[in-house]
Amino acid sequence: MLSARAKALRPSLTLAIAAKAKQLKAEGRDICSLSAGEPDFETPAFIRAAAAAALEAGHTRYGPAAGEPALRQAIAAKLSGENLVPTKVDQVLVTNGGKQALYNLFQVLLEPGDSLLLPAPYWLSYPDMARLAGASVTTIPCGADQGFHLDAAALEAAITPASKLLVLNSPGNPTGAVLSRQELENIAAVLRRHPQLAVVCDEIYEYLVAPGHQHHSLAALAPDLADRIFIVGGCAKGWAMTGWRIGWLAGNSAVVAAAIALQSQSTSNVCSFAQYGALAAVQGPRDCVREMAARFDLRREQLCQGLLKLPGVSLQPPEGAFYAFPDLSAYGLDSMTLCNRLLDQVGLAVVPGVAFGEDRCIRLSCAAATEAIDDGLERLRGFLASL
Ligand code: GLU
Repeated sequence: MLSARAKALRPSLTLAIAAKAKQLKAEGRDICSLSAGEPDFETPAFIRAAAAAALEAGHTRYGPAAGEPALRQAIAAKLSGENLVPTKVDQVLVTNGGKQALYNLFQVLLEPGDSLLLPAPYWLSYPDMARLAGASVTTIPCGADQGFHLDAAALEAAITPASKLLVLNSPGNPTGAVLSRQELENIAAVLRRHPQLAVVCDEIYEYLVAPGHQHHSLAALAPDLADRIFIVGGCAKGWAMTGWRIGWLAGNSAVVAAAIALQSQSTSNVCSFAQYGALAAVQGPRDCVREMAARFDLRREQLCQGLLKLPGVSLQPPEGAFYAFPDLSAYGLDSMTLCNRLLDQVGLAVVPGVAFGEDRCIRLSCAAATEAIDDGLERLRGFLASL
């Protein structure tokens, strides 16, 4: 009964593992989950209050498919002022999380015969979203030996006439790599030589950058390319709002208009009162974001220090986001087997690197309480010692 594209579709493993960990916990198993990238903090109180007030004020009906005008305006102002990417309201679409922004964009840009250029390791939803749009995927290896950073020469070598869209995810999931200003400028120089290639910058982790690194928006560094640079962002990671499902797509207004049309024919507007919470977040001061980011810095450090102490584990320290992506291949197990056994034998839920295009590694999230990180490290240590 299923269509060929449904048959080819794999469910999101990050969500599946996180759900399985929760279910096992509910069944009474002693589980430590360092799986999904989900801040354990509460959404800040002023954001919750704004959504509750909007609910009480009657923001309970259909709104424009593109998003509440005030929120689109606030996102345009944020991108213009904070990211230095001049953005008008008609260039912004409010989506159900960053994921729907990516999905919509892939649907309106990609078609059979097109290829998505994907630096690897990559976040696991990009390839499936591209295939759902009928496109093929070309990965560009960015190994730990190069700090998981995309090299401009490797990018240029991978480009063919079919290359339609490049994904840049910085700070990156699962590696935490943060592209420097110089690296982005080198990438922009390549893009200038290949006018058929558009770029989507997934900046969902923009606020989570380790000390000594800085987030830059490519579109700010290469305003001449702004017409083919798309920005995806959202409230989930920076403001601890994963369940709210508020993201955005920004860029070329003609493409955004097509994405709005697609959204109007699929999901319509994002939950109306949730958008008012997001409005408070995006318009509000960044103190809460900075405070949570500082705590993630400590946890990232805690996780990395703990991993570096384990024999046979090699780690390229993450420069942002809230994951560590250590190489455990010295133990001779593929990442899926390793993660299944970690869950079965010591109750540790982590994500196999194979899902991100790197079977030598596993992904551990430090978006968890410090006690949970210590507990997870101890379980991993015990398991590795038993091998
Ligand atoms: N992006 C997060 C992760 O990689 C959340 C789960 C998902 O949407 O994949 O864990």
